[in-house]
Amino acid sequence: MNESPASSSETPMVRFERVSKRYGALTVLDQLDLDVASGEKVAIIGPSGSGKTTVLRVLMALERIDDGVIHIDGEPLTHMPQGDGLVPADARHLRKMRSHIGMVFQHFNLFPHMSAVQNCMEAPMSVLGLGKEEAHTRAAELLTMVGLADKLDHHPAQLSGGQQQRVAIARALAMRPRVMLFDEVTSALDPELCGEVLNVIRELGSAHQLTMLMVTHQMGFAREFADRVCFFDAGRIAEQGSPEELFGNPQHERTQQFLRAVM
Ligand code: ADP
Repeated sequence: MNESPASSSETPMVRFERVSKRYGALTVLDQLDLDVASGEKVAIIGPSGSGKTTVLRVLMALERIDDGVIHIDGEPLTHMPQGDGLVPADARHLRKMRSHIGMVFQHFNLFPHMSAVQNCMEAPMSVLGLGKEEAHTRAAELLTMVGLADKLDHHPAQLSGGQQQRVAIARALAMRPRVMLFDEVTSALDPELCGEVLNVIRELGSAHQLTMLMVTHQMGFAREFADRVCFFDAGRIAEQGSPEELFGNPQHERTQQFLRAVM
């Protein structure tokens, strides 16, 4: 495996330490090690079924892991300290750790009965305890940032897919996460709507010191956006490096095969 360009003496924002995830006899993550530095943008690519989405889901604590430990900014996500050791995290600890992470899915998962601005106010009010006015101000700012200042009161059904996805991004950001996860955020969109969503992500990446992990099939975007690209195969990182290294000079047969097929 290539040396991670993120390795430094600083605490990584995300650390997977020998993390395994199994569904019955199927090993989906196989003793995965992955460090992501604060502010780093990592693209996760690889064949279908290689465990890419599972990486995001376990990071969001939507799935339990079977072995290993995940840390967010040095704090165990999956475990909590007790006595001299670590024990599996309880629901309260998971909720707290989950609040550091924002996730945007392939399907936008907006609340259909709420307007764009209400979608972005709900969690800050119910989870962070923000007052209505403050939550509204924050939501309106974020919707303006994603180019939807004139759509605050529109319901999801009145918005295009690209606009809905931008609301979903604003909604995740409203929780002020330290880490943003993007799972195939453009794959449910018509090609002409992908650009507007990718532009928002690109702007976010350059304007904010957010740590981002993105599962994507869009090699062009991964190449331009990511500091590092990780190629997954069978629940492990088969190869990783800068976009120039990984796309320009892939070392492994599996990476070469995959890139030949998708590019
Ligand atoms: P990728 O995102 O790389 O396509 P996933 O992480 O979604 O892969 O899935 C990895 C493997 O785990 C796949 O073989 C998938 O079928 C399996 N899998 C995912 N979720 C479940 C589940 N809830 N129960 C059983 N198998 C699952």
